Amino acid sequence: MANNPRAFDARAREARQLAYEATTTVGRRYSSVAEIGISLQFTLPDGKPHSSPHRRLFTPDMQAFFDVQCTDRDCSDGGFDLSPAVDSAVRSDRHEVAGHLRCRGTRSRQECGIALDYAVSVQMRDD
Ligand SMILES: [Zn+2]
Repeated sequence: MANNPRAFDARAREARQLAYEATTTVGRRYSSVAEIGISLQFTLPDGKPHSSPHRRLFTPDMQAFFDVQCTDRDCSDGGFDLSPAVDSAVRSDRHEVAGHLRCRGTRSRQECGIALDYAVSVQMRDD
């Protein structure tokens, strides 16, 4: 492999950590939100599931960091930014948004092709 993938990984991890730390909390970004649930299902380019579906919960004290890493370890610069989806779920009347994203990364100089089906559901505070 050209240009040392390990060094690249370390830099990418560090950049991700910095981005995470620079992110405000869920409570500060969305003052009326009690909880954000995000369901994730990754699929391979041929449509087969790549990992079992799982769900992440975000509470107001957590970082509002909605950048999901690609499930393929050999993928570089990959990932899925769910911030726009969370934004529209918070703003929508039903507080739910579902969609489909393709990984923005590359693997062996080809498009990664892993896809993410997501569903965001937001619980608003009662007051
Ligand atoms: Zn990827």
